[in-house]
Amino acid sequence: MTEITCKLLVIGAGPGGYVCAIRAGQLGIDTVIVESTKLGGSCLNVGCIPSKAMIHVAEEFEKAADAAAGRTPFGLTAGAPALDLKQAVAWKDGIVQRLNNGVAALLRKAKVKIVHGRARFRDGKTVTVETETGPRTIKAEAIVIATGSAPVELPFLPFGGNVISSTGALALTELPKRLVVVGGGYIGLELGTAFARMGSKVMVVEAMDRILPLYDTELTGPVSKRLTALGVEVLTGAKALGPTAKGDGLRIETADGKERSLPADKVLVTVGRRPVTDGLGLENLVLDMDGRFIRIGERCETSMRGIYAIGDVTGEPMLAHRAMAQGEMVAEIVAGLPRAWDKRGIAAICFTDPEIVSVGLSPEEAKRAGHELKIGQFPFAANGRAMTRHGEAGFVRVVAQAGSELVLGIQAVGQGVSELSAAFGLAIEMGATLQDIAGTIHAHPTLGEAFPEAAMKALGHALHI
Ligand SMILES: Cc1cc2nc3c(=O)[nH]c(=O)nc-3n(C[C@H](O)[C@H](O)[C@H](O)COP(=O)(O)OP(=O)(O)OC[C@H]3O[C@@H](n4cnc5c(N)ncnc54)[C@H](O)[C@@H]3O)c2cc1C
Repeated sequence: MTEITCKLLVIGAGPGGYVCAIRAGQLGIDTVIVESTKLGGSCLNVGCIPSKAMIHVAEEFEKAADAAAGRTPFGLTAGAPALDLKQAVAWKDGIVQRLNNGVAALLRKAKVKIVHGRARFRDGKTVTVETETGPRTIKAEAIVIATGSAPVELPFLPFGGNVISSTGALALTELPKRLVVVGGGYIGLELGTAFARMGSKVMVVEAMDRILPLYDTELTGPVSKRLTALGVEVLTGAKALGPTAKGDGLRIETADGKERSLPADKVLVTVGRRPVTDGLGLENLVLDMDGRFIRIGERCETSMRGIYAIGDVTGEPMLAHRAMAQGEMVAEIVAGLPRAWDKRGIAAICFTDPEIVSVGLSPEEAKRAGHELKIGQFPFAANGRAMTRHGEAGFVRVVAQAGSELVLGIQAVGQGVSELSAAFGLAIEMGATLQDIAGTIHAHPTLGEAFPEAAMKALGHALHI
């Protein structure tokens, strides 16, 4: 068995792991990364990137279908569109492949050694990797666990046949006529909306009393309205029970306790993600856990010296950019730099239609934290750019502490607001006040103008409402 020794071993090459390895390599740390499947992890291969590619396909298809049906207000007409889903999926796969290659090139440039295979801890400094050419032992001074997450499977609705996970949904080469989505969180709604826009009849089954329960109803309102306009039926307070006897749909218990069968060609289960720790040999370590997730401190350190954990395997928020920021930080810690997790906010985005962005505290969270508040909200209906893009639903909301005027949180819902997350994140991270935002010239005409207007509204003098 060949043995490798290194200073840093990273297990898992998702956004957390590969960023950690690249930064460590840049800092001159002798680094090895182990990946059991494809470089880029869930995000690049079956998550963020492929889902956004398919959302784009759906958007373009809907635009063409609207033109064909004479539904545009500006007189655009066209012939009826046809979508070759096989080709769309091949296009998406091509993007993923290019990014896979890009990650490999970046790791090579940083002089990181890539080992393909499944890693298993033997002890706190030693890992065995099952590679194609046999087992390899890797000994390291520091080890980062970045093994990510996988879709939660419901025991009474296991994946297989017509029951698919988000990974299966992103690989469909034929449009399901009827799609039932179990779980009204962001992954289910992003994909459900995309399929509805491509022409599937979509139903969403959500156990809670509303969709996207992590966001307030003001933010989710425009999304719900759009789902209704798309013909998506949302059944809240409803529980999935299992497949129908013939396997042609889903049995559910509705909010009023009645059993109902929903016909479906595919049942997409998106009820959450679980940490990937099976087969990792955690039983050979003494790690404190948070339920099934690995417990970490503010330097992403675990309860064992020299072992760090980052990304989805450490719990919520399970987001790629959090994993990357943690990875970058841990590499610098291993290099001896003084770093700790001191972020003020992590933007969360739902790429639904319209999109939702939230950074920092919501009004409710800020109130619960005991702050006196000044809140300003500016509607896109009063924003020239939103009107010219034919996307007037939604608003930008700024939540600030009364007195200091320190901005505590920023939220928005509207078409294209995901790109505003950069400005929102920067404002929160830099400790901006309402005056800072109101006093920054925002180019005209842009959606971003709604941001200073919301801040001015909170200060009592919005200009355009
Ligand atoms: C459909 C979908 C859409 C999403 N959209 C977004 C989005 O728009 N924005 C966003 O921020 N997040 C999104 N996410 C979440 C995002 O994908 C994750 O937060 C992110 O991938 C977490 O990164 P990670 O590095 O922690 O783990 P992962 O990306 O899960 O990577 C972990 C890697 O570790 C490898 N691994 C596991 N065990 C071992 C082992 N024992 N040995 C070797 N390798 C191992 C795995 O093969 C995997 O490649 C989405 C997720 C899904 C499913």
